[in-house]
Amino acid sequence: MYKYICFLLIYLCLTANNESVAQDPLPSFGAPLDIPLYLSGNFAELRRNHFHTGIDFKTQGVEGHKILAAEDGFVSRISVSPYGYGLALYIQHPNGYTTVYGHLLSFSENIADVVRKKQYEEKSFSVNFNPDPPIQVARGEVVALSGNTGSSGGPHLHFEIRDTKTEKPQNPLLFGFDVKDNIPPRIRGVRFHPLADTTLINGKHEARSFVVLGNAGKYHLKAGIKINVYGAFGLSLHTRDYLNDQPNHCGIYTLALNVNDALICAQRFDELDFATSRNINSYKDYEVFKNNQWHYHKSYVEPGNKLEIYHPKPLNNGIISIPGAGVHQVDYTVTDAYGNESRLSFEFETPANPGVPLPSPRPYDAYFGYGKNNHFEYSDELEISIPENALYQDLRFEFSRQMRTQDTYSPVYILQNEDVPLQEFIEIKFFWKDVAKSIRDKILVQRSDIKGRTSYLTGSYTPEYFIVKARDFGKFTLVADTTVPSLTAGRWSTGGTVTNASDLQFTMRDDRSGIKAYNAYLNGEWVLLKYEPKKSMVFLNVGESNFQKGNNSLVIKIEDGVGNETVQTFEYNY
Ligand SMILES: [Zn+2]
Repeated sequence: MYKYICFLLIYLCLTANNESVAQDPLPSFGAPLDIPLYLSGNFAELRRNHFHTGIDFKTQGVEGHKILAAEDGFVSRISVSPYGYGLALYIQHPNGYTTVYGHLLSFSENIADVVRKKQYEEKSFSVNFNPDPPIQVARGEVVALSGNTGSSGGPHLHFEIRDTKTEKPQNPLLFGFDVKDNIPPRIRGVRFHPLADTTLINGKHEARSFVVLGNAGKYHLKAGIKINVYGAFGLSLHTRDYLNDQPNHCGIYTLALNVNDALICAQRFDELDFATSRNINSYKDYEVFKNNQWHYHKSYVEPGNKLEIYHPKPLNNGIISIPGAGVHQVDYTVTDAYGNESRLSFEFETPANPGVPLPSPRPYDAYFGYGKNNHFEYSDELEISIPENALYQDLRFEFSRQMRTQDTYSPVYILQNEDVPLQEFIEIKFFWKDVAKSIRDKILVQRSDIKGRTSYLTGSYTPEYFIVKARDFGKFTLVADTTVPSLTAGRWSTGGTVTNASDLQFTMRDDRSGIKAYNAYLNGEWVLLKYEPKKSMVFLNVGESNFQKGNNSLVIKIEDGVGNETVQTFEYNY
């Protein structure tokens, strides 16, 4: 009878969410590189604050490999930034898709000319524009060289396929690239999460992970492990995929959880959405990802999680709640984009009664509803506003305060729920009546995490408050940045004779507020500096700049986040 009800539920569920409409076969693309294709990252891999929206092709550890247009089309967008995708190219194809190539070293000559013109027009290294007229390219044409620009940790090509109309990134591995993979995903652990105030997992009200053993697609728990759950809970699975011949771990394609043969939750990564990518912080186990780099995929959906990856939509959001005593069967199935599959099966027990006294909730300072605007005030010192949908679920907020130190301009405020992720920015207002007016324009906020790592937030101010927006909890305090940024010329850049081949190099650094602006003027005219924050360096290529015969004067101005400025002049003979 029980099995029959489960079957009926699955049937109703599938018919209610009938998404398996027949689709046209996906078009095929040419390889964007002319070397063997190996991946160091794939689609939907779990990253910090986002899912990986493309695939990362290895480039043999070096920069400068030819990047080929994957299909006929035109360059619809070009972006240059010291961060993110670095130098990036977007090619729109007649087949309805746009391919994206990121972290490039350089563009092909005709594209580079257009970019340079734009940079001089906007007097900015960073540009992001749609070339007009569009630049036509043919399948296989060299459009760029591979690099390591932007937020890239080593030479590689970041490659995406987006639906041109929706701009949603698609899983490129479904488009048939010649990447070898006959290794099924590996499963490393299963985690039980209490989802009610009185849930007990092996007698305790806290999340608990169990080690998973096995290989070649067959996984099990350690022999003799007993799992006993009282009350509502959710499950998550620590799993990653691996490809042939390479040590890198990648993301999975599908995950399905069944309990007693009833489907609880199933997700599939065909497509992502930049608008909801940060919801990853609700999707993964945020705390163990941050602290241990474990990739736990949750098989339950928190109220603030808007990801459209669940097919069908899980009944009861994947929350498992089984009344009465019994033994229950869990079956997990995980696959990669090439159809390799791994399974984990085990049992857990539900007792008729808890057996130990039910836990009482930890003390807290405020209760914040996820779908509400929340507000918290401490004396006449601090105000915190947490907007609607900034949280993924309700929060028992914990707050404390420490005395100010010699280096700070306010007490230290501890917004204790550092392992709780935020979807939207929260606003923190410091009443700064005790901060001398003379120092106020140099004030910023220092945030420290549990491990003592600091970051800085610049803000805005009124006569009463200093205001910052933060997207992480932690420890916050007011500090000042009164030090000007430093600028140092590299060995060959201090002055003297230069030629077209010279690449002038300068190191620029700033503690606390960080570099906000960098501009150079050659004989009074703005000149392009390339910024590489990973090396704290800017570069000026003499051959590409308008040097005059004889003496040239180069003025470099840099500014930090609170307006401290450094200006230096260099003289060169050309
Ligand atoms: Zn990438």
